[in-house]
Amino acid sequence: MRAEITIKGIVQGVGFRPFIYRIAVKNKLVGFVRNRGDAGVEIVVEGNDNNIKQFLTDLEEKKPPLAQIYDLITNYSEEKKEFEKFTILKSSEGGELSGSVIPPDVSICNECLAELRDSNNRRYDYFFITCTDCGPRYSIIEELPYDRPNTTMQEFLMCNECKIEYTDPSNRRFHAQTVACSKCGPKIFLTNNGGELIKRGDPIREAGRLLEEGYIVAIKGNGGFHIAAATTRSDPVKRLRKTKHRSQKPFAIMARDLETIKTFAEVSEEEAKLLTSYIKPIVLLRKSDDYYLSDLISPGLHNIGVMLPYTGLHSMLFDQVQEPAFIMTSANPPNEPIIKENDRAIKELGSVVDFFLFHDRKIAQRCDDSVVRINNKIPSIIRRSRGYAPAPIHLKYSINHCTLGISAELNATTCVLLGNKAFISQHIGDIEKFETFEFLKSATNHLIKLTNSKVEVVACDLHPRFHTTKLAHELGNKLGCNVIPVQHHHAHIASLMGEHNISEIIGIACDGIGYGSDGNVWGGEVLFCNSNGFQRVGHLQEQPMIGGDLATKYPARMVVGILHSATDIEKWLLSNVKHFPHGEKEVEIVLKQLKQGNFIKTTSCGRVLDAVSALLGICYERTYEGEPAMKLESVAIKGKDALQLSPETNGNTLNTTYLLSQIYDNMSKYPVADLACSAQSYIAIGLAQLAIEEAKKLGIDTIGFSGGVAYNEFITLAIKKEVEMAGLKFVTNVQVPPGDGGISFGQAIATSYEK
Ligand SMILES: [Zn+2]
Ligand SMILES: [Zn+2]
Ligand SMILES: [Zn+2]
Repeated sequence: MRAEITIKGIVQGVGFRPFIYRIAVKNKLVGFVRNRGDAGVEIVVEGNDNNIKQFLTDLEEKKPPLAQIYDLITNYSEEKKEFEKFTILKSSEGGELSGSVIPPDVSICNECLAELRDSNNRRYDYFFITCTDCGPRYSIIEELPYDRPNTTMQEFLMCNECKIEYTDPSNRRFHAQTVACSKCGPKIFLTNNGGELIKRGDPIREAGRLLEEGYIVAIKGNGGFHIAAATTRSDPVKRLRKTKHRSQKPFAIMARDLETIKTFAEVSEEEAKLLTSYIKPIVLLRKSDDYYLSDLISPGLHNIGVMLPYTGLHSMLFDQVQEPAFIMTSANPPNEPIIKENDRAIKELGSVVDFFLFHDRKIAQRCDDSVVRINNKIPSIIRRSRGYAPAPIHLKYSINHCTLGISAELNATTCVLLGNKAFISQHIGDIEKFETFEFLKSATNHLIKLTNSKVEVVACDLHPRFHTTKLAHELGNKLGCNVIPVQHHHAHIASLMGEHNISEIIGIACDGIGYGSDGNVWGGEVLFCNSNGFQRVGHLQEQPMIGGDLATKYPARMVVGILHSATDIEKWLLSNVKHFPHGEKEVEIVLKQLKQGNFIKTTSCGRVLDAVSALLGICYERTYEGEPAMKLESVAIKGKDALQLSPETNGNTLNTTYLLSQIYDNMSKYPVADLACSAQSYIAIGLAQLAIEEAKKLGIDTIGFSGGVAYNEFITLAIKKEVEMAGLKFVTNVQVPPGDGGISFGQAIATSYEK
């Protein structure tokens, strides 16, 4: 019998062909296997019926850990007797099928780690040790098929020993495109901050020692540069904050190992699993009671972002030091993408760092670390990048037209939706600067190329002046296809519909800011969504944003706007003038604008949480996205819902002035933590009740929660509890970020329903 098999999925760059070779030889079959240009694999086997059957069973059951099969088509026919043995053929160039799947970067595997530490092994101490099961993928791929000449490894000619491994089908490094050793592979070197070479022992251990001594070192990794510093002493962190102009924003850290993490943070079973997975993302962990690292790493927050070493280089940094962890923050100029070129690193970071640890392999695609938080045992992806992107999310249904989602303005990603797969790019960032805009453009083009897609529809935000909206029209013209704007919060809820295959839902979308279909600033919305679009069925009370963006930066302005109608705001202002950067003069202007009605209004949930944070004296200035609300959550964790307020609604609007005035009136009676908790509780229960009421009215059985506020564990759980008590189903995002990193996916999903 002859079987011709085509497989689609993550089957290139994951040791799939040598695996096929081994099971074919084991089952006494002849024929061939080869990679296809569309990232699939083609297999032809001939032999006896039972052996072919066993071969197919082995294929399903014993495949390599990183391989994922999405489609497998087998055609049987008579033997043609054209083969004498089983061989691995060169890749076919033909890529008539689109929807390729490119593997994401994979953390160092245990076998490679053991070899790195084995003084008898050829790759002992080789910092870029990899095999078919591990190593960079997406960050080195320039083109498909995933073969060495199409990667940035092409500059490194394999030595004989590496070549033997590469060409031996029984070897773990057979066709591992990243195969290299200290003789033939990328080299590592240490320089001062001017880029002058320092010849002093082993560069990596030397860098580790310098970090421990308090120096700041920029380290080139797989997807870009990190800035590293010690974590147990405050002076380097302080210096880093000063030079990077980041007074409060938390830094991620990389810890030596899991046991070490447990000495300063609480780690649940789910968190441990994620930390040690092949993705090795940054996981937000709760600081333990005996947390002993510098308080300047994540000031004012109850949690800290921690990851484990994910390359040989990273684990070697810890070899000769006592430090339990190092700060490892993406090296990027403000609002620009992570730096990936050596010369640019010297130019941009020379004044920030003391040393550079460089290697000489180019980075094809930048890729920041991913960030995940586990809420109530379920992962909530904050940044879906290294280790995830661009592996697709599988829908339970197929869409007709290939759609591109281009994001809103913040935390942008780009998404190609093709058939039943959604390919979401790595994290791009906030599209405020030219550099980030260019990155969005190139990442979009790269994704279209790698997935071999013919885009038929481009989806963008409803905001007419976003750079992304302009880019969507540019692409629409170039590709000759329709551009369809999608309202921001509709996109958030559509991301839930796509992920969970839901056709009708009442969605609660809460975040900082999104352009509403009435031109106002939305952000605390209850939407009824189905394949026809959406209807706004509820929202938070509209509140003044005095001074527009200034009210976002200085939440005391929100307090004035929200409270003025309920209380004697001038009394509150008397003792809070100092929280307005320009003091009394500013307060005067604020009051004047308020009186004249000279302001825009918002239903943003983020702004209300920010206002509560300022009212309670927790945070008066937002120096990074989400700061006041995040710090509010960190305080609320220690409190209980003391006020137990019943939601005050006016039709389909939740009254937030009532909330703030209740908190204001009770400030002397309860601890700040309790009031913080009560505020979160009020908003969660209030929105849940609005949603439940609408769901019952419309006969809908599912309520979802998305948007940046969905990272707040307390609010998410409180909504879930209400919804489930009402006998309805509750869903949140699991595979895509509930924040704006999931907007591109949501836009594409929302558009795919259009006829
Ligand atoms: Zn490996
Ligand atoms: Zn070699
Ligand atoms: Zn949003």
